[in-house]
Amino acid sequence: MSKVIKFILSFLVLFAFISCSKTPYTNRTQLIMFSPQQEMQMGYQSSREILKKEKISKDPRLNSMVQRVGKNIANAAKRDDYKWEFYVIDKDILNAFCLPGGKIFVYKGLFKAVENDDQLAVVMAHEVAHALARHGAERVSMIQLAQIGQVVGGAVLQGSKYENIFNAAYGLGAQFGVILPYSRTFEYESDEIGLYLMTNAGYDPNESIKFWQNMKKLKKGANPPAFLSTHPADNDRIARLKELIPKALKYYK
Ligand SMILES: [Zn+2]
Repeated sequence: MSKVIKFILSFLVLFAFISCSKTPYTNRTQLIMFSPQQEMQMGYQSSREILKKEKISKDPRLNSMVQRVGKNIANAAKRDDYKWEFYVIDKDILNAFCLPGGKIFVYKGLFKAVENDDQLAVVMAHEVAHALARHGAERVSMIQLAQIGQVVGGAVLQGSKYENIFNAAYGLGAQFGVILPYSRTFEYESDEIGLYLMTNAGYDPNESIKFWQNMKKLKKGANPPAFLSTHPADNDRIARLKELIPKALKYYK
């Protein structure tokens, strides 16, 4: 059997163990090597570690805002298997995140960019969209697949004159061709799903433009946090959101 056929067969066997799922609203097919139960367990454990490590804000205004908007977004997500929890972390950071299973953390610093509930809904719906679309598990699956691909390919070509070329090309190819563009895909996808979700929850999608303009102003001159450098440029995401607003308004009740 030729080495190429062996290589292709190894991949086919591998893919048989992978589940295909689809993203909500955008219906993109994904390859994920974890069960939703495993993923939720991981999300739950990380959330307990964060609660131990971080100082949770007791500010009544910020907390009531996060609980109110969070509940509305969670209702619109229609996922009874998620155990929703919403927290404000007492740190001056322009960021928020959602762990698998529905644990949402918003940093206090982010409220500098938030003028009203609709704008908080932009951020929270974006983060919820990452969790609903299982982006974390998908990303880890991509990295594992790339590693397995490298091991399998390296083994098949072992000793041949192509071995070194393959390893070098595959390592770079997997990183730049597959994994890195994924993070950008995830950001745009969460913007889109988040926009539909917030509109579904009764918020005004036009406020997404104002929110990202506020973020743009705040970031000027400051060191961009890691979260922003992996995120698309604000002008690009504002342009994309403007295009999507008419579609989002169809979800408005
Ligand atoms: Zn994001």
